[in-house]
Amino acid sequence: MVFGVGDPEANLMLVGEAPGKNEDLQGEPFVGAAGQLLDELLGGIGIQRDEIYIANVLKCRPPGNRDPKDDEIDACKGYLREQIRMIHPDVVVTLGNFATKLLTPTETGITRMRGQRINWWLGATLIPTFHPAAALRGRPQVKEQMQEDFALVAEVLEEYALRTEESDPVQNRLDLS
Ligand code: URA
Repeated sequence: MVFGVGDPEANLMLVGEAPGKNEDLQGEPFVGAAGQLLDELLGGIGIQRDEIYIANVLKCRPPGNRDPKDDEIDACKGYLREQIRMIHPDVVVTLGNFATKLLTPTETGITRMRGQRINWWLGATLIPTFHPAAALRGRPQVKEQMQEDFALVAEVLEEYALRTEESDPVQNRLDLS
């Protein structure tokens, strides 16, 4: 089982599809090639992996890396919901079609959904982008579009940070929480 990993106080949460072989072996999401690309994209906006929280729609590896099935998604979605509730991030990034279709009320494909900012549950903003595996096997343009989407993530995180500062200047100045 690959539950999730990261800072329980994270402002940013990434949601992928399902563990692959490497993730299954190590018990951690995105430790393979797709994970390296994620680290690069995060690094591009000045964020390190241990500052965020990463989870997947499915908590177990689908045999032979096939797509998740509906009953598997149903079996796992309660865990994801509680992860989101507990982490309570400002920004949720869905990576690829499965996470995007589960967490937004849409059947629209990721190519049209990516880069949008969606006012979401618990006051969070949801931003869909491609799955990093798509950038690894696709055209260079896919990675560029992911870089654009991560730039938007940085922008929205900054907006939340400013909002907190403005709404509670005394708490902030005195470092109370
Ligand atoms: N792909 C995913 O969607 N999640 C992982 O954890 C690894 C690869």
